[in-house]
Amino acid sequence: MNELDHQLEKILITEDEIKKKVQELADEIDTAFPPGEEIIMICILRGAVVFMADLARCLERQVTFDFMDVSSYGSGTVTSGVVRIIKDLEEDISGKNVLIVEDIIDTGLTLKYVVKVLKTRKPARLKVVTLLDKPERRVTEFKADFNGFAIPDMFVVGYGLDYAQKYRNLPYIAVLKASVYS
Ligand code: 5GP
Repeated sequence: MNELDHQLEKILITEDEIKKKVQELADEIDTAFPPGEEIIMICILRGAVVFMADLARCLERQVTFDFMDVSSYGSGTVTSGVVRIIKDLEEDISGKNVLIVEDIIDTGLTLKYVVKVLKTRKPARLKVVTLLDKPERRVTEFKADFNGFAIPDMFVVGYGLDYAQKYRNLPYIAVLKASVYS
């Protein structure tokens, strides 16, 4: 998709900026976990798929993948405030190094819930990486261990993030026109 789609306002973060940031995050993560030890990367479906695929290839160690689907949004842009697990992990994470990979933290409700649930399974270490963060929108206190870009309160799509399941394959992060969802 070369031209900016008519529903998109502007490009907020370019492909090059994302690429650079993903490598920086991978370096931070490699330093934070014990050298040489394997990490289970947990992708929060579906928005974090693209980010996790790129991040995994920048890490200098063995990693395995697992996936969790948690709902807090419908097909629109407003959080329901209710979090539930739609698909749980396949792997036992007790005693393991675990990295939760998220696309964006908004209210903080999703990750607060996921971290609480996964901590009860006694991983050796549990850390969270997010590509994007909207700190202004928090309704509950939550901070990831590794943060990509802080962005203003705007609805964004691309690089895995969708609007009504579209735009996930954009290589950049773009702002959706407010007229599309208001
Ligand atoms: P939270 O529980 O932190 O409010 O919600 C996090 C989830 O909301 C993200 O994983 C993502 O699915 C969705 N979300 C929050 N802000 C945006 C946004 O600007 N664009 C898109 N596409 N999804 C968002």
